[in-house]
This record gives sequence, C-alpha cells and structure tokens, in this order.
Amino acid sequence: MNTGETHVGAASIGIDIGGTKTLGVILSYQGNLVAQLRFPTPSSSAKIIEHVLMVYSQLSREAGDDVDIASLGIGVAGLVDTAGELRRAPNLAEADGLRLGEMIGPSLDVPVHVDNDANCAALAEIRLGAAKDVDNALLVTLGTGIGGAVVANGKIFRGGFGLAGEPGHMLVEPNGIRCACGANGCWEAYASGTGLRNLALRRAETGELQGLVQELGGEFEGITGELISQAASAGDEEAIAVVDEYAKWVALGLANCAALLDPEVIVLGGGMVGSWHLFGPKIRGLFEEFLIGSEQRTLVQIKPAKIGEAAGAVGASLLGTVQGTNE
Ligand SMILES: [Zn+2]
Repeated sequence: MNTGETHVGAASIGIDIGGTKTLGVILSYQGNLVAQLRFPTPSSSAKIIEHVLMVYSQLSREAGDDVDIASLGIGVAGLVDTAGELRRAPNLAEADGLRLGEMIGPSLDVPVHVDNDANCAALAEIRLGAAKDVDNALLVTLGTGIGGAVVANGKIFRGGFGLAGEPGHMLVEPNGIRCACGANGCWEAYASGTGLRNLALRRAETGELQGLVQELGGEFEGITGELISQAASAGDEEAIAVVDEYAKWVALGLANCAALLDPEVIVLGGGMVGSWHLFGPKIRGLFEEFLIGSEQRTLVQIKPAKIGEAAGAVGASLLGTVQGTNE
C-alpha cells in the first residue's frame, strides 16, 4: 500500500467501527491510501448512524474534487448477517439489530456495504497484505477477544447465515477460564490478548512472576500482556513460561482450525505481532506438533498481519469491489 499519490480518480471510503474508536479511510482503486481519520465511537447506538454520516462527510471533504467516491463500506465489531443486519455486537451498546446499510444508504448517493470487521481485515490482507493472492486462508486477530475470517476459494466464507469464521468461542477446556461471553473454557479466554493476561494472573496468584509483581507494587491486577512480553524478551524465566503456555493455546486452536479448513496461509493479527520474534516461532513449532500429518502435509505458512491497525477500514473500503457482499 502506498500513500501520497497526487492524482487519485475513483476511490472508495471504508469505516471501521470498533468498540471505542472509529477509523475511516479513503482507498484509491489502485490500492493507495489517500486519507485516514480517527474518531471516538459514540457510546450510544442511537448516534451510530449520525456518526457514520459525519465520518463519511469529513472524509469526502478531505478527498477534494479530484476524487470520485464510488462506494462506502462499513466494518463493525459483531455478528453481521448476509442481509447486513448487526445481529450481536457485545462491544457496541444497544446496537444489536441495527440494519446499518438500509439506514444509511438513503442519505448517500453511493452504494453502502456492511460486514464484520474481521472479514474486512481478512479482505485487506488477501488483496493487499500478508495473504495477497492466496485462495485459502485463515485470518485470526488476537486482541481483546479473537476475531476470525475464513477465505475459501478466494472469497470470504460466510456459512449458512453469514456468521461463519468466529473461532474465539470454540471450547478448548471445559470448566476452564471464564470467557467474556459468559461460558467457561472458550479459546478466546486463553489465546486472545486478554487470554495472555489471564494465564499470567493465574500463575501470579500461585506465587509465580514475583519479579514482575514486585515492580507493580505487589498488585497482580497491573499485569498486562505487554508487560509479560517485555519481561520474557528481557529473559525472565517465569514470563517465558507464560509465553510458552500462551503459544501452546494459540497453536492448539490454530491446529484445530487447520484440521477443519486446510488453509495455505494463516495470518495472525493483534498486539503480539509487535513481538513476533517471541511468539511466532513457538506457535509455529507447537502448531506442527498438534496438527495431524504435519510431516506429510505441505507446510501451512503462519504469518504476522501486514496492514496493521487500518486493516478493518481498508478492507471495508474494498467491500464494494466484492461480489455477493452485504449491501
Ligand atoms: Zn466465549
């Protein structure tokens, strides 16, 4: 992806509505990022429509007269069905049931498409990023929760009702750690960024990680995934043990997904991408141990996401170029 192009021509706008922040981009048809704006997401769903229209108009102004905006794509953190309805959005207050495309479309003179944010990020990675031109891929984002998208035969696989590709709530440990969804033992409770913290807290409560806990004035609650990564990078043996356990859980879930989907490439996104040297090789090694026939199979590539924070918005801007997306 390039920036700074002088003549743009046709372009599309992508808006990624996250739980706390909204990122809007203009992407030219050549795949160049023309503009990028960031806003806080309103806390009330009643303001979401107004909010999207405001972001759209600010980006249009930013684009100027020589840019022809051809479509708007919206990525939302939640379950978006094939009709573009937001069925469940645990991180957006009272937004369940919103039909964003239908509500926004009449106010604009361009087609509007809506999809799940992880599907959008996957679209960005297969068009412009780590899985460019790959026909069968799995994209997994290890953030506060786990976002996922499956690319099958070059298209986002949607399932019967449009809700496919959410591996975070696969059960990996019955009666295990409590997940944000209310169940116990979801993969997300072990392998998301939050999961890394959960594993560290569990050990700190039994007297491990004393060095780190002392630095935090004896307060376990201050432990974060980032602090664990830093301590492990600095050679703290107990922090390295947390990273090893975390890598095992990430690898276990990925191996289960690979057994089902047989992807050519798995792209991992989220905060741990910044410490790939620490996590990547461990996940790779354990993945091969868990996956059946890994010595006989063609090696599945495991790569860090390339587009980073703007992937959801960039992918949303590409929705208008994909046949069969939600409109
Ligand atoms: Zn769950």
